[in-house]
Amino acid sequence: MFENLSTALQKTFKNLRGYGKLSEKNVKDALREVRLALLEADVNFKVARDFVKRVQESCMGEDVLNSVTPGQQVVKRVNDELVELFGGAHKEFDLAGKPASVMLMGLHGSGKTTTAGKLANRWKRSGRRVLLVACDIRRPAAVEQLSILAGQVGCDIVKPEPGETVPALGKRAAQLSCEGKYDVVIYDTGGRFQVDDELVHELKEFSAETEPKNTVLVLDAAIGQESVNVAEAFRDAVGLTGLILTKLDGDARGGAALSVHAVTGCPILMTGSGEKMEDLDPFYPDRMASRILG
Ligand code: GDP
Repeated sequence: MFENLSTALQKTFKNLRGYGKLSEKNVKDALREVRLALLEADVNFKVARDFVKRVQESCMGEDVLNSVTPGQQVVKRVNDELVELFGGAHKEFDLAGKPASVMLMGLHGSGKTTTAGKLANRWKRSGRRVLLVACDIRRPAAVEQLSILAGQVGCDIVKPEPGETVPALGKRAAQLSCEGKYDVVIYDTGGRFQVDDELVHELKEFSAETEPKNTVLVLDAAIGQESVNVAEAFRDAVGLTGLILTKLDGDARGGAALSVHAVTGCPILMTGSGEKMEDLDPFYPDRMASRILG
């Protein structure tokens, strides 16, 4: 997903590394190219502007310009700022509860149900007893999809009963999950095409019944700048402890999704890079920076 950005940055830094000595102008010119590469990759424009400003400030000191390898020093500052941009230290789910609870939210098609299966698979493999809860009472296909995934992964599932409301389902599942049979309960909440009042009301009611420790938004990285707006809307409406970015295997530009931590302050916990149950990885800001800088 970030190949073009990576290629553009590598080209800029190859030139910069060629200089034995760097002037302020050399640095400014290179950072202008960095800014263009970020914008070209669909990084949010304010994020790109602030990013370059911070790198520029940290590069203008004597320690960089007069160092033996000035180009290398600039690249290091860019790397450090990229790590910060992506969230700094790696963050984990809070799995301390008994059981730990995870409420997954997201728009239709974001990959929420698939991600619920992937998380169940991951935690099951690490020896935890997992309960999946299908909460999309309006879409029998989503319940069926989660049922199939639960079967594949080999974990239990709670499905809505006829006429059951979403909060009632949440309450029933939360009570069941507290009987000592499970280490993690994952609520796959209902999706919508947009964040509207009905969705927010439903999520709030649901959350009041289930009191999840982890409130996580599943976000399609391929939807561009809209991903940032969606994340802000969910954060403001229901609060988020983290984000999962999906579809990083696609060929969309993806820069907007990389801006999502900087804009919302929410940590990116994991990334999805395929449709299979194994295609889910923890997100490490430093590894993502290295991947992009090559
Ligand atoms: P939901 O409506 O948010 O529950 O979305 P689904 O879980 O049904 O996923 C929508 C589509 O995206 C399905 O075809 C999934 O197989 C696909 N999908 C989910 N995550 C990924 C991913 O990380 N990469 C790719 N390529 N496809 C994904």
